[in-house]
Amino acid sequence: MNNDLDSALESAISINATEFTSKVWDVVIVGGGMVGATVALGLGQQGMSVLLLEKQAIDTSWQADSPYQVRVSALTRASEKILRNLGAWQGIESRRFHPFTAMHVWDEITPGEVHFSAADMGEPNLGYTVENDVIQNALWDQVEACDNITVLLNHRLESLRLENDQAWLTLEGVGELQTELLIGADGAMSQVREMAFIGLDTHDYEQCAVVGCVKTELSSEDTCWQRYTKDGPFAYLSMGGNVSSIAWYLPLEKMQWALALSDKDFAQEISKASDYRLGSVIEVAERGAFPLVRRHAEHYVKPNLALVGDAAHTIHPQAGQGVNLGLLDAAALIETVLEAKGQNKPWGRHSVLRKYERWRRGDNALVQRSMEAFDWLFKQDASLKVFVRKGLLPVANRLTPIKNWLMGQALNGREALPKLAKSVRFRKGE
Ligand SMILES: Cc1cc2nc3c(=O)[nH]c(=O)nc-3n(C[C@H](O)[C@H](O)[C@H](O)COP(=O)(O)OP(=O)(O)OC[C@H]3O[C@@H](n4cnc5c(N)ncnc54)[C@H](O)[C@@H]3O)c2cc1C
Repeated sequence: MNNDLDSALESAISINATEFTSKVWDVVIVGGGMVGATVALGLGQQGMSVLLLEKQAIDTSWQADSPYQVRVSALTRASEKILRNLGAWQGIESRRFHPFTAMHVWDEITPGEVHFSAADMGEPNLGYTVENDVIQNALWDQVEACDNITVLLNHRLESLRLENDQAWLTLEGVGELQTELLIGADGAMSQVREMAFIGLDTHDYEQCAVVGCVKTELSSEDTCWQRYTKDGPFAYLSMGGNVSSIAWYLPLEKMQWALALSDKDFAQEISKASDYRLGSVIEVAERGAFPLVRRHAEHYVKPNLALVGDAAHTIHPQAGQGVNLGLLDAAALIETVLEAKGQNKPWGRHSVLRKYERWRRGDNALVQRSMEAFDWLFKQDASLKVFVRKGLLPVANRLTPIKNWLMGQALNGREALPKLAKSVRFRKGE
């Protein structure tokens, strides 16, 4: 942790509890992950008083010579704009990231491949691969620089009530806090969602994703390679040169097997799963595995409460959309709240927050369902599915308008974009 942030956070922790309990916060955010920190910046930078609660110690120890991290995200151009507008993109550029310029998709059991290229679309790239820690570090730089954001670490949320047009939360060791708007950005197992009695629609994919970075014999050519195998999709996400982050989807029962493989056997299995597209894997870094579950909150909002990011939805990561959708939630909520504030309306009012919910819930559901359709179509080798697949990839590859439309959706998001995701505003010092 850098010293400035260290002392800022420690001073936040050592503040007398009454400093937290004696005022009405404009916004309290539970969860300082990528999405929660983004909402905090969007509102704090516009003058709102924001209290950001995070249960974990904050690790800002990333260095230029740090080994590649296990968790990597493919960010869309819309996400880049959001982060750039909040001043966080610069912290990503000054650390480590990689723009990828092509995507290549093929199937194990049918012929035909689809190739998407940035050049064909007149774009400089199709997105960026960035380690999650790099994104998080860049966001924390800006959180630290924003006087309106107070960070409070490691205080357990004990209770929550929504009463008298306010949200009231009790924090262990602090007492009861009061806010106009409580935002649950506390991830897939959201405590805020549970305490607010918001139901959850879930679907277990019975799959896991094994992730980590590897070095291959051949260069990835700045391309993300995705192969549909009988077990599930396999992807190389280019991190530049011969380094790629892998996403290897397997039936859940193979998770422990994949984690227990020796590095040599793991490298061999990955080379096979990718059909040696980048030659053999010659080096593997730390790996991790995650069971995959689709979740969708029945409501994103209640009076004085909103959910964002994984607290509201989780999705199959094969198209790398999870945090991108979360950042669009963040941008839409920021815009909704600031608009209400500008009109002197209480921003925690249910009718105000419903606008955010209408804006984002349908879009997120659509992406979830599309991922499920892909999963269904490519998972098994039933003859009808194989027949559809045989036609799908070659046709998609030949029809440029379809390809461009698909890529446009993936690059920039689908529904009306929030302002923060549309264009880049001028920022001081750029
Ligand atoms: C294998 C895999 C690959 C993925 N790849 C991609 C990709 O390429 N592109 C993409 O867009 N998405 C991807 N995703 C999805 C993406 O990682 C998530 O959508 C994203 O991390 C969600 O961010 P979040 O901030 O909403 O939640 P989280 O990252 O879960 O953050 C929640 C935060 O809240 C804190 N917290 C939790 N409970 C409390 C509490 N009670 N009090 C205080 N703090 C609390 C946690 O400590 C954490 O810091 C992938 C996911 C997986 C599993």
